[in-house]
Amino acid sequence: MIEVVGLKKVFDNKFEALKAVDFTIEKGDLVCLLGPSGCGKSTILNLIAGLLHPTGGDIRFNGSSVVKTEPKDRNIGFVFQNYALYPHMTVLENVMFPLTVGEKKIKKAEAKQIAETYMRLTNIEELSQKKPGTLSGGQQQRVAITRALVQNPEVLLLDEPLSNLDARLRLKIREEIRRLVKEVGITTIFVTHDQEEALSISDKIILMNEGVIQQNDDPQNLYLEPNNQFVAKFIGNPIINMLPVTIKEGQMTHPVFTIPLDRFTDIRFKKLVPDGQYTLGIRPEDVLTTTQDALFTTQIKSVELIGRERILNFDLADKHVKSIVTIEEIIEEGAEVAFDFQYKKAFIFDDKGERVY
Ligand code: ATP
Repeated sequence: MIEVVGLKKVFDNKFEALKAVDFTIEKGDLVCLLGPSGCGKSTILNLIAGLLHPTGGDIRFNGSSVVKTEPKDRNIGFVFQNYALYPHMTVLENVMFPLTVGEKKIKKAEAKQIAETYMRLTNIEELSQKKPGTLSGGQQQRVAITRALVQNPEVLLLDEPLSNLDARLRLKIREEIRRLVKEVGITTIFVTHDQEEALSISDKIILMNEGVIQQNDDPQNLYLEPNNQFVAKFIGNPIINMLPVTIKEGQMTHPVFTIPLDRFTDIRFKKLVPDGQYTLGIRPEDVLTTTQDALFTTQIKSVELIGRERILNFDLADKHVKSIVTIEEIIEEGAEVAFDFQYKKAFIFDDKGERVY
């Protein structure tokens, strides 16, 4: 188990990269640190690995603080995006290397046996005698992960391990990583800025922005129950529609439509909503075409066909809105279309971006 308690990092130039971050990772879980560039993901990883020293707070492995422990004694496997393999060594020698150096080094024959066991697990046995320079990006990354695993680390840290790979290979290797992590049962932290990647492989996602955790949750909860506007916008593709609205005397009004508040279900209101300015968040799949009781009718500006879905683009007041319909719904550019919302799936955010519904 990894516990991060009130972890802070202020760099020498006074930049506050982490502002008192708290989280716990259970043994054997695969957790993604997700967020936009510069939010502090790599800083957290480097602090856990001991490559950076915290300004405040604590990091505990199985209940014991490690902040004063040397990086080499933290029992961590670290994989970077640029593989960092030794070019003059074969794949086998690269994988064996960590076992044959340092205080805990073991005999070559024993190291070879352990290396080969892990190489079977990651399907790189046939590459054993090759040099890294002759391998594809995906193969090099497999070698790097195998090399990190041979020492049987307590924690595996992966910093954007797939970002140098092409789209198809990314899909394949991310599935392999998930399978491997679960097979070995190792606690793993995976850094990415790709929400789809995070949603597809994680047990839990820690979504960060500007050095602050925005939500630490199961993948589906980030999508279905976002804490705030940042989370709602970061997760989901195409991006959620955000419409400025006014709530007054039981009605939600927008320049184009009015919704009685009782169309939203009481149980989803997180607190009493006083009259005022809010933002209605509605995902494209919850903007539905309708043949009766339309909330509004509008002209479609453009249509994109993406796989099995059609994305309808239109403007509401001065905001661009997207609706997703199935490929069977044949709607063309310029058509007048009637819409309604799926109110139970909508979100309402207050002026600070916090979710109230
Ligand atoms: P990316 O996805 O781009 O790698 P990240 O979320 O991993 O981003 P970090 O590398 O953790 O972000 O950096 C967090 C912030 O701290 C950034 O704004 C970065 O510019 C800043 N930062 C990182 N290292 C230093 C340093 N040594 N001195 C000053 N600022 C730094």
